[in-house]
Amino acid sequence: MEIICIGCPMGCSLKVEVNGEQILVEGNQCKRGETFARNEVKNPTRSLTTTVRTIFEEMPLLPVRTEVEIPKEKIFEAMEVLNKVLIKDKVNCGDIIVKDILGTGCNVIATSTINGDFFSPVSKGETSADQINRFEVTVRGIKCYE
Ligand code: SF4
Repeated sequence: MEIICIGCPMGCSLKVEVNGEQILVEGNQCKRGETFARNEVKNPTRSLTTTVRTIFEEMPLLPVRTEVEIPKEKIFEAMEVLNKVLIKDKVNCGDIIVKDILGTGCNVIATSTINGDFFSPVSKGETSADQINRFEVTVRGIKCYE
């Protein structure tokens, strides 16, 4: 099989041949590529970086990530768990948002801070979806790095 190494931006194309217990890797430009290919065959894992919803209109989405990589096949299930999370209180960067997600032994942690003292909860009658849409519009409206 052929896979692209995600170990660095080079994105080497790796040719992987599995012959019983033997795994032959070609096309890697460093040892990390070989390790990546072997893990992809035996136990593929990925980090998950995403956001969870909050009740705060100033910050309707809180960035989060897995502390370590989790099995690749659990990524979509983990997203479903995180889609149900609603943050209602202050959060510090590094706080655990979901402990031991899906029994993987990996915590999902915040990668940003919410200081609830300065934030106001969602306006009456406004849904989280409204908040998220508005946030997305705001983000698209900002012209950064031009
Ligand atoms: S094999 Fe090495 S150089 Fe190539 S993409 Fe992977 S980490 Fe980068």
